[in-house]
Amino acid sequence: MAAIKGKDTKPEMIVRRYLFSRGLRFRVQVRKLPGNPDIVLPRYRTVIFVNGCFWHGHEGCRYFRLPKSNIEFWEQKIKNNVARDIRNENELKSLGWRVIRVWECDIKRVVGREECLQSLYDNITKPQTEGYDTNYENTPLAAEPENMYGQNND
Ligand SMILES: [Zn+2]
Repeated sequence: MAAIKGKDTKPEMIVRRYLFSRGLRFRVQVRKLPGNPDIVLPRYRTVIFVNGCFWHGHEGCRYFRLPKSNIEFWEQKIKNNVARDIRNENELKSLGWRVIRVWECDIKRVVGREECLQSLYDNITKPQTEGYDTNYENTPLAAEPENMYGQNND
């Protein structure tokens, strides 16, 4: 019965189906890697976690509301989860993986879902520059001529 209820609308499945339809091939729930990433794209050296907003403590998210009772218990539990996520992420990075997090709220909502998936795809497939924070893609390029670099090394 649980198998029927919402199986195909799970955020993780939506992400998988989308990436597959865009031609990406991946492995799922790889237990050998820290944190059992939901989606692993060896070719892009990228792992993706599709995070439930509650369990992974998505701050400021409307899906992240602590239950009214046992607040301290839940607070501690979520805190532990978040700390574990960070540990896993650091471990993965040190193994040379790029870590991308997708929040269920971005996928659950129909509004904006397409854009979110599109930018996820772009993020995965855009060329990687070693040692560069890929978030700087919009930074204007320096205007200096190239030969200004590598000269005058006192
Ligand atoms: Zn969220």
